[in-house]
Amino acid sequence: GATQYVSARVAPLGSQLVLVLAEDRTREKRLDAIRRDFVVNVSHELKTPIGALTLLADAVSEASDDPDAVQRFSRRMRVEASRLSRLVKEIIELSRLQGDDPLENPGPIDIGAVIEQAVDRCRVDAENRDIDLVVRVDPGLEVLGSSDQLAIAVGNLVENAVNYSPDGTRVAVAAQPIGDLVEITVRDQGVGIPSSDLERIFERFYRVDRARSRETGGTGLGLSIVKHIASIHGGDVRVWSVEGQGSTFTIRLPLRLDPATGHPAGATLA
Ligand code: ADP
Repeated sequence: GATQYVSARVAPLGSQLVLVLAEDRTREKRLDAIRRDFVVNVSHELKTPIGALTLLADAVSEASDDPDAVQRFSRRMRVEASRLSRLVKEIIELSRLQGDDPLENPGPIDIGAVIEQAVDRCRVDAENRDIDLVVRVDPGLEVLGSSDQLAIAVGNLVENAVNYSPDGTRVAVAAQPIGDLVEITVRDQGVGIPSSDLERIFERFYRVDRARSRETGGTGLGLSIVKHIASIHGGDVRVWSVEGQGSTFTIRLPLRLDPATGHPAGATLA
């Protein structure tokens, strides 16, 4: 617990200072443990594609007289290499989000533009699999933050929705104001998430089905990146899911307040 280093034998005078120092030390120790865990996990995750690449390199050199096999193995090497590069990219992204100043120069961001950017990233995949990508966004919704980060967050949710859904289903993306917040919703008709896993899916590297995540090039970092980005923007992310029926993820963010009226910018349109 957070108070495990707080001593009961603290002198009354200056006890507050000691308490604060003790809590600081606890926090530091906890962060240290989290960091150590992360490094262990990262090394473990990197081992898989590196191991695969090593085996494939051997296979290529042994198959040198079979051009078809060489082609096949090289193709798989490229898949592993791109998985590796995605993993590294997301690890860097995550550590930047956990740094001291993750939101430099936040500006007014149009949610519609963010969603468009995010959905564009998944359109080809969705089309290839006959998944109907429906977008419905109220106009004029603005938040304060980074459009690149928000597009990554929404894009990760849409990408998951597409990846974890059967062909021919629908993925619906929507944004609407709720009081002083904007709610961005991504709803799918996919495989769903067992309730026993729901609490853990935002943890780094946690996957419900490792093999399936691997098949779609997943890293297990997507949702933890979403969580960080939402929280940096003063919001949060939630999930509802029924196994076998589908999932709904929502990101809620504080709307930008119009300095003139003190009301959410764009809310007058409603
Ligand atoms: P991954 O790269 O594996 O997709 P994420 O952090 O994005 O990693 O998600 C963690 C896990 O949560 C996934 O591996 C998957 O099991 C589950 N998950 C995420 N989104 C969905 C979804 N829309 N439908 C079903 N399962 C999902």
